[in-house]
Amino acid sequence: MDIKEYKGVFVFAQQVDNKLSNIAFELVGKGKSLANDLGETVTAVLVGYQVKDLADQLAEYGADKVIVVDDPELKEYRTEPYTHALSEVINKYKPEIFLIGATAIGRDLGPRVCARIHTGLTADCTKLDIGDFPLQAVPGQEQLHNQLLMTRPAFGGNTIATIACPQFRPQMATVRPGVMQKNPKQPGRKCEVEEFNPGFVPNDLYVEILDVVKKVENTVDIQDAKILVSGGRGVGSPENFKILDDLAEAIGGTVSCSRAVVDAGWKPKDLQVGQTGKTVRPKVYFAIGISGAIQHLAGMEESDLIIAINKDDSAPIFDVADYGLVGDLNKIVPLLTEKIKEAKAKANQN
Ligand SMILES: Cc1cc2nc3c(=O)[nH]c(=O)nc-3n(C[C@H](O)[C@H](O)[C@H](O)COP(=O)(O)OP(=O)(O)OC[C@H]3O[C@@H](n4cnc5c(N)ncnc54)[C@H](O)[C@@H]3O)c2cc1C
Repeated sequence: MDIKEYKGVFVFAQQVDNKLSNIAFELVGKGKSLANDLGETVTAVLVGYQVKDLADQLAEYGADKVIVVDDPELKEYRTEPYTHALSEVINKYKPEIFLIGATAIGRDLGPRVCARIHTGLTADCTKLDIGDFPLQAVPGQEQLHNQLLMTRPAFGGNTIATIACPQFRPQMATVRPGVMQKNPKQPGRKCEVEEFNPGFVPNDLYVEILDVVKKVENTVDIQDAKILVSGGRGVGSPENFKILDDLAEAIGGTVSCSRAVVDAGWKPKDLQVGQTGKTVRPKVYFAIGISGAIQHLAGMEESDLIIAINKDDSAPIFDVADYGLVGDLNKIVPLLTEKIKEAKAKANQN
């Protein structure tokens, strides 16, 4: 492998049912900033069936080029044909960096593709930079420049590791949804769209999909919520989450929680914020009866405004909070809800 032949940043633009997932736009955003650092461009790889129309959306969020692999074999996600599609794209276009979302699909696809093309993959990254590797010069060892530095929690979240892939290309990473920022939309922006189809020979190694059963969700995805009212072990019981429900209803928010709450069986895993839960970035994040363990902070510290309510004034959550209320949540939360309702009623009268 001549690694000098590999150029540009490519991202997998995940779509499901011909709708682009948020992670596709987040990766285009991050890919673009990495590409800028390298003096290169960002290319989105769109794989599916009858998906070409989605290319414009990727352009509007900053893609410099879209490669479309369109084939009936790619209608629903299946490991084998998608692996074939991405591996052939990489073999033909030779990208220097290839990013995939750490979604259920991406976590299946990324390792398959990297094994097939014989490179490395850093899974579940929370930070990506271009820089020198080794990070500090080591006597007797060449320090390489313009490497992809892939950062992720390691050893059960007890440390943060920065990993590079200096000998192989592309440098591949799966990236946690919700961590990277998408670029502002530029309506009407266009980019080059190229179709590439490596050909699919259906064979009995492909999984055959007999039926797709969709889970019916009544709840809002906490990653889409603008206001999160998040409760921790300090809430005390599943029944007492009623006071958080009331606050959320009064301010148009959504309830989420810490892992302690999920482990206790008070709330489903879907609502968990943090390193092993979801990464959220709402406009307002209420942390109520949450101590602020590092694994929790990893999922919410990028929120625009953090309001913490805790009876312990030394709780680490106050280190990241913009506003802190020290006291018993059982008194503060209902009072806050009442005040918000009063203010809303007043505003409606005027
Ligand atoms: C590998 C690994 C991954 C993890 N992933 C996650 C993750 O994704 N998300 C996550 O949240 N955690 C995660 N954890 C767990 C994390 O370390 C903490 O144990 C957890 O976040 C604690 O939850 P908590 O803050 O709700 O509970 P606690 O730490 O028990 O805090 C409860 C807080 O409530 C306050 N309180 C109690 N009563 C009241 C009251 N009446 N009024 C006001 N305040 C009150 C207390 O002062 C305390 O600060 C992970 C741990 C590991 C090892």
